[in-house]
Amino acid sequence: MSETPFPDASPAPLPATAAPETAPRKRRPPRRVQVSQVQVLSPAMRRITLKGEELQGFEPVDPASYLKLIFPEPGQAEPSRPLPDGPRPTAMRTYTPLAVRPEAWEVDVDFVLHGEGPASTWAAQAEVGQVLYLMGPGPGYKLPLPAPEHLLIGDDSALPAFETILAALSSTARVRVLMEVMAAEEERPLHSAAQLEVQWLVRGRDHTQAGQALHAVLSQPGFAVGEAAVYLACEAAAMRRLRQLLTADKGVARSQIVGRGYWKLGTMNHPDHDYGDDA
Ligand SMILES: Cc1cc2nc3c(=O)[nH]c(=O)nc-3n(C[C@H](O)[C@H](O)[C@H](O)COP(=O)(O)OP(=O)(O)OC[C@H]3O[C@@H](n4cnc5c(N)ncnc54)[C@H](O)[C@@H]3O)c2cc1C
Repeated sequence: MSETPFPDASPAPLPATAAPETAPRKRRPPRRVQVSQVQVLSPAMRRITLKGEELQGFEPVDPASYLKLIFPEPGQAEPSRPLPDGPRPTAMRTYTPLAVRPEAWEVDVDFVLHGEGPASTWAAQAEVGQVLYLMGPGPGYKLPLPAPEHLLIGDDSALPAFETILAALSSTARVRVLMEVMAAEEERPLHSAAQLEVQWLVRGRDHTQAGQALHAVLSQPGFAVGEAAVYLACEAAAMRRLRQLLTADKGVARSQIVGRGYWKLGTMNHPDHDYGDDA
């Protein structure tokens, strides 16, 4: 597992005149953004629109890209502006840019309210006008577009990423989504130009059960993956167990699966680049 040294910001482009081999790579400065809208999507999901002039040029390329948000420390009204190459702020977490409107300098981010944690706690109280710093975008899913079949397996933390993937698929594709959420009230319509089949699975609020509902469906004898391109993103240990199930019991090639640990049970600030390379 590897992690970028500091906030996953893509390096700023070099000036046209700079010699690439000698010029130091400068990171983009963190962008100051303000909450411009808070929408309650469901009991455990908030859609928060972040807006600011400094979002100019913030244009993720791939679906399931990511950004980093820096939250206020206890006692701070707003976070201090981090230095581009300074120490990593402790209250920094990884999220998915769901909808980006470059002309309006806006990005929507969907937050799971899972309980205690700088990001989840902040999102639960978010109000218009509050300030965060944003880094990124970082790269996402290199969607294998020639593949006609896609399978997206994940929990609610990956729902925004899945929505960006669904938006990138064309009408010739077929996509099946298995989405594990905390309660039936979290279910909502998903959309894609592709032929879409969605299965919602409820696990309850006991996070130690993360991935169990997905496991139960995937291990059914009738569940077949075929040649589908699989994007698997959920709790880190569950991702490894589910990937093992797919490869060992379902004959899925490991190269067919892109696995991502989006959070880890009992661990604060799980690294953002957990591809499960250790398993
Ligand atoms: C590439 C990428 C994209 C992501 N996109 C999104 C996104 O768009 N929306 C989103 O909500 N999350 C997303 N996540 C997951 C998010 O980064 C983590 O959930 C993060 O840990 C939340 O930070 P926190 O401060 O709330 O909790 P932390 O301080 O990191 O953790 C505190 C405690 O909460 C637990 N915890 C953390 N996250 C969850 C969870 N989702 N469910 C249950 N328990 C949890 C931890 O195990 C720990 O015990 C993404 C992660 C990655 C790697």
